[in-house]
Amino acid sequence: MLLSEILDIIVPKGWFLPVTPGTRFVTLGGAVANDVHGKNHHRAGTFCHHVRAFELVRSDGTRRLCSPSDNPDWFAATIGGLGLTGLDK
Ligand SMILES: Cc1cc2nc3c(=O)[nH]c(=O)nc-3n(C[C@H](O)[C@H](O)[C@H](O)COP(=O)(O)OP(=O)(O)OC[C@H]3O[C@@H](n4cnc5c(N)ncnc54)[C@H](O)[C@@H]3O)c2cc1C
Repeated sequence: MLLSEILDIIVPKGWFLPVTPGTRFVTLGGAVANDVHGKNHHRAGTFCHHVRAFELVRSDGTRRLCSPSDNPDWFAATIGGLGLTGLDK
């Protein structure tokens, strides 16, 4: 899903993403894989400061929930991990 698609849903409801890079046309997975930053980096930190959990699909097809409390090593390695740990959904 593109950040632009998320914004299309949430902006009319009065919400906005806490961090957006210079283009809206990046995917959620790409935003996690590069732990992107925006113009408010000094206040809000990077995109993944606001990610509570994601599901990681490994190349063998297994799925694991990753968060600071569930599989924390996988969570940390996937953030800014350039997709090397699998596909985040
Ligand atoms: C005009 C422009 C402005 C930009 N401005 C900024 C900015 O202000 N701040 C900033 O931080 N970055 C910025 N970027 C960089 C951009 O935000 C990152 O390169 C972002 O990761 C691109 O996401 P993408 O969805 O296009 O992913 P891709 O370019 O397709 O992939 C980027 C990386 O993410 C991995 N990846 C993609 N999807 C997944 C997934 N589902 N699961 C696991 N890994 C995945 C890929 O393997 C690859 O390593 C900018 C880019 C452009 C073109």
